Amino acid sequence: MHKKIAVIGSGFSSLSAACYLAKAGHDVYLFEKNDTLGGRARQLKREGFTFDMGPSWYWMPDIFEKFFNDFDKKVSDYYTLEKLNPAYKVWFSDDIITIGDTLDKIALEFERIEPGSSPALKKFITKAGVNYDIAINDVVNKPGLSPFELVTPETAVRVNQFFKTISDDVRKAFKNEKLVSILEFPVLFLGAKPNKTPAFYRFMNYADFGLGTWHPKGGMHQVIQGMITLAKSLGVRMTTNAAISKINVNNNTVSSITVNKKEIYTDYIVSGADYHHTETLLDAHYRQYSASYWDSRVFAPSSLLFYVGFDKKFEKVAHHNLFFDTDFDEHARTIYDDLAWPEEPLFYANFPSVNDNTMAPEGKENGFFLIPIAPGVEDTEALRSQYFDIIMERLERLSGQDFRNHILFKQSFCVKDFISEYNSFKGNAYGMANTLKQTAFLRPNLRSKKVKNLYFTGQLTVPGPGVPPALISGKLAANLIAKTKI
Ligand SMILES: Cc1cc2nc3c(=O)[nH]c(=O)nc-3n(C[C@H](O)[C@H](O)[C@H](O)COP(=O)(O)OP(=O)(O)OC[C@H]3O[C@@H](n4cnc5c(N)ncnc54)[C@H](O)[C@@H]3O)c2cc1C
Repeated sequence: MHKKIAVIGSGFSSLSAACYLAKAGHDVYLFEKNDTLGGRARQLKREGFTFDMGPSWYWMPDIFEKFFNDFDKKVSDYYTLEKLNPAYKVWFSDDIITIGDTLDKIALEFERIEPGSSPALKKFITKAGVNYDIAINDVVNKPGLSPFELVTPETAVRVNQFFKTISDDVRKAFKNEKLVSILEFPVLFLGAKPNKTPAFYRFMNYADFGLGTWHPKGGMHQVIQGMITLAKSLGVRMTTNAAISKINVNNNTVSSITVNKKEIYTDYIVSGADYHHTETLLDAHYRQYSASYWDSRVFAPSSLLFYVGFDKKFEKVAHHNLFFDTDFDEHARTIYDDLAWPEEPLFYANFPSVNDNTMAPEGKENGFFLIPIAPGVEDTEALRSQYFDIIMERLERLSGQDFRNHILFKQSFCVKDFISEYNSFKGNAYGMANTLKQTAFLRPNLRSKKVKNLYFTGQLTVPGPGVPPALISGKLAANLIAKTKI
C-alpha cells in the first residue's frame, strides 16, 4: 500500500531518500526551511560569480553513478564530469607537492620527496583499494542496526584494522612528515583526527589517489540540480521556506508535522535535518538521545568560510589547494582536544574558475576558503576578519602574488550561520565523526526506537559525513521503510 511520506530537509540525504521512496510509489512531500534547495550544498550567486557554499571535492564517482543507475539514469544525463589534473596542490612553507591524476604521477612526486617511497605508496593504495571494495560494496550499505552486520568473511580477517589507526598505518610505511600529512588528509573528511580513525578507513586513500578528484561543470550544486530534476520526474513535491516546527505523535506513532503553523498529516517521516535538531521537534519523552549523549559525541569540525570574488586571474594556484605550511597535529589538537581557535590554522583554498569558466566572469577568479575550527567556538566579526587576514597573508607570501588588492567582495559563513541556516548542533559543518566508537551500529539510529514510522538520514547517522555517504544514507532509510509492514 502506498503511503504519504514527509521528508524534512533538502540536502543530499533527504533528496536521495525522497527519490527512492517516490520510486517505490509513495506520495512524497519534501519540506526545506531555507528558500533554496540543497542544504549544505546550496549555491551562492553574486556579481556573476557562482560559489558552492559547502562541498567542493567530488570523490568516489562510482557512488554518484550507482545512485543515478538505481533510477535507470546515468550521471551524464544530468551533468558533465571532468577529472582534475592536478587533483590538488599541497602548499608547505618550503615546497609545493602536486597530486596528479594518476597513481604513477603521484608516485613520481612521492619519490621526489622521499626517495624509495613509490613502491610503498603503490602497495599502500592497493591495500586501500581492497578495503574500498569491501567498504563500498558491503559495509556502508548496512543500516547499522546490529554489530553483526560488520562481521563478514572479509572484515573478520581484517578485524585488527578496526583497532589500529590510520596514523599507525601511514607512519609505518612513510617517514617524511609532508607525505604523512598528505596520506592522513583524506580521513579528515570523516570528521576525526587520523590517530582516532580506524585503519579500515584507509579506503579513503584509494578514493583520493586511486579514483581521483572530479569536478562537475558548474560546481557541486549541479549534482543537487540533477537530483531535484530526478525527484520531480518521480513525483516528489518540494516546498521551500517550510521549517518544520513540530513532529506530532499519536499512540507512539508519527501522526503529523507542523509547518508554518499548519498541521499536515503524514504516515511516515524521514528527516535529513541534523539528527539532534530533529529530536528537539519531538516532545521530550519521545527523544532517544539525551543532552549529555550529544555533548559526549565527537563532532566533525565546524568551519570558517569565505566566498570571495577577485578581479583578476592568479598564477600557480590549482582548483584545490591545501595549505599545510603550519603544524597539522597542532591544528588538529586545538580543534578536537582544546575546542579552541587554532593559532596557526591549516586552510583550504578552492579556485574552481581555474578550470571552469562558468564559475566566474571572464578574467576574474572565484575563491572559496575554508578553515576547520572546533564546533561551538565563539564566532564574532572581529575573529572572522582576523583569520581572513592570517590566511591572505600566507596565501600572498607563499604564492608571491597580491590577492587583497584584487577583492571585489567577500562574504563569510561560520558557526552562527551553521546554526541559524541549518539548525546544526554547535554549528558543526559536516556531522558526527566516524571514530571507532561512532561507527555503524554505534551511530544514532536510522530508525527511531521510540516513535513508530519516524526515520532519520544524513551525516549524523549511518554511514557518516560526506556527500557519497549522504546519498547512501538516504537509500538505507528508504530501504528500511520498504521492509516495514505498510
Ligand atoms: C563547508 C563544507 C565543506 C564540505 N566539503 C565536502 C566535500 O568537499 N566533499 C564531500 O563529500 N563532503 C563535504 N562536506 C560534507 C557534505 O556537504 C555533507 O556531509 C552533506 O552535504 C550533508 O548532507 P545532509 O543531507 O546530511 O545534510 P544537509 O545538507 O545539512 O541538509 C539538511 C537540510 O535540512 C534543513 N533543515 C534543518 N532543519 C529543518 C527544519 N526544521 N525544517 C525543514 N528543513 C530543515 C536544512 O536547512 C538543510 O537544508 C562539506 C560540508 C561543509 C559544510
